[in-house]
Amino acid sequence: MQYETVIGLEVHVQLDTRSKMFCGCAADYQTAEPNTRTCPVCLGLPGALPVINRRAVEYTVMTGLALGCRIPEFTKFDRKNYPYPDLMKGYQISQYDLPLAVNGYLDIDGDPATVSGPRRIGVERVHLEEDVAKMQHFPDGDGGVGYSLVDVNRSGVPLMEVVSKPDLRSPEEARQYLVTLHSMVQYLGVSTANMQDGNFRCDANVSIRPLGSDTFGTRTEVKNMNSFRAVYQALEYEVERQRKVIEDGGTVVQETRGWVEERAVTVSQRSKEYAHDYRYFPEPDLPPLNIGPAWVAELEAALPELAPQRKARFQADYGLSEYDAEQLTGSRAMADYFEETLSQRDPSRHPLRDVAKEVANWVYGDLTYLLNQDHRDISVSPVAPAALSDLLGLISDGTLSTSLAKTVLEEMYSAGGAPADIVRERGLAQISDTAAIESAVAEAIASNPKAVADYLSGKETAVRFLMGQVMRITKGQAQPDLAMSLVQEALEAQKS
Ligand code: ADP
Ligand code: MG
Ligand code: ZN
Repeated sequence: MQYETVIGLEVHVQLDTRSKMFCGCAADYQTAEPNTRTCPVCLGLPGALPVINRRAVEYTVMTGLALGCRIPEFTKFDRKNYPYPDLMKGYQISQYDLPLAVNGYLDIDGDPATVSGPRRIGVERVHLEEDVAKMQHFPDGDGGVGYSLVDVNRSGVPLMEVVSKPDLRSPEEARQYLVTLHSMVQYLGVSTANMQDGNFRCDANVSIRPLGSDTFGTRTEVKNMNSFRAVYQALEYEVERQRKVIEDGGTVVQETRGWVEERAVTVSQRSKEYAHDYRYFPEPDLPPLNIGPAWVAELEAALPELAPQRKARFQADYGLSEYDAEQLTGSRAMADYFEETLSQRDPSRHPLRDVAKEVANWVYGDLTYLLNQDHRDISVSPVAPAALSDLLGLISDGTLSTSLAKTVLEEMYSAGGAPADIVRERGLAQISDTAAIESAVAEAIASNPKAVADYLSGKETAVRFLMGQVMRITKGQAQPDLAMSLVQEALEAQKS
């Protein structure tokens, strides 16, 4: 039988606010010493009272607006009760029936293997809650229980949850949805959204059903994936596992499963909990929240440019191809880097279009290549936009050939330093002096009689070999066009 995959994603995004969700503690839990960002509120001490973080509410509304959601005028917070050692109060303040944003959508490119063309994925809700403390488990050496440590710094850090409708039809669509949402929150500036650090995490709900059926199958929820690739792989695995269960005559059990990266499998963690398990009730220590149209309008007006608009602007203003614009706007950090580098170039010297294309190539080509090797984001690039711009200046004034510039970029990347200094210290400048190149050409011709003979007998490719020799003799520094014409000249002279 043919099956259709149904996926809905719940994405938790830590909001990049200065203070925590309901207290004045700093939210910089990742860099602070353990348990140094605590107070009676986030420790869950009796009698402590929460206060709503205005910025976190604004960030959530902004995200809702960017997702085309409706922002209800009236929302509230609720207590979600469950006992767990990382949950200091024994309940989490969350939002249950009246979230901050409802009924939006996110457009994705689409998976050619399922439905052709772009797809609009429904977003059910965006709500605001708080993160829990961080546990670290240390089993004893013999596989026994050992001990655990808890760091309360993360307790109470603002957490936004974006819940999709079950509209996704393949792991690839799920991956695209995540990548797009990830880029969106970074463009909005509401989260650093670093998946490795757990700032952006996803629970994936997945079920399968006979193709053509209009009722949903029983779903499982998969957790613990900390990269886009892991989400994709976990979903592929889970779809296949469910298909086998059904084809073997079994039934899929609604449960929570964990992705085990090392083994590339999902394993059962616990049976599914239901809303009534949580004994939700309105948080009595917080007032209901009235957002109101004026506040919403203010936030809407202040929304920054998002990836699709920026991509269109890059095409229109800089004459970049759709492909180039897409590459550059894939992350806000890269788009920012590109525009900053471009703004440092002297626009009076060359047509903007050419300069933009050149900068684009270096940013998402050579520089990204170096960054990827170290798994570094462009936002922490050791080569700053101004330095890259200086390097490109050395190409346009003839000091460096493109290939020498690549060598200089590598040096800038690994050891730092200004490009002009590197060129001077390492003697890398391009040789444009005719006499100097002529002597290299003479040397190449004198020591390669066979190549010369080949040329004279009509083998044109010998030119390229001799050109390579000239480059070797000049350590790659001969100005290529000049060297080429001098090689040809010298060979022609051999004919007579
Ligand atoms: P819960 O809060 O119990 O996890 P929700 O109804 O809020 O349940 O759904 C959570 C997520 O599961 C949503 O993203 C939704 O789209 C998705 N979902 C619901 N039913 C299915 C299903 N049958 N198959 C796949 N995903 C589903
Ligand atoms: Mg769920
Ligand atoms: Zn606190």
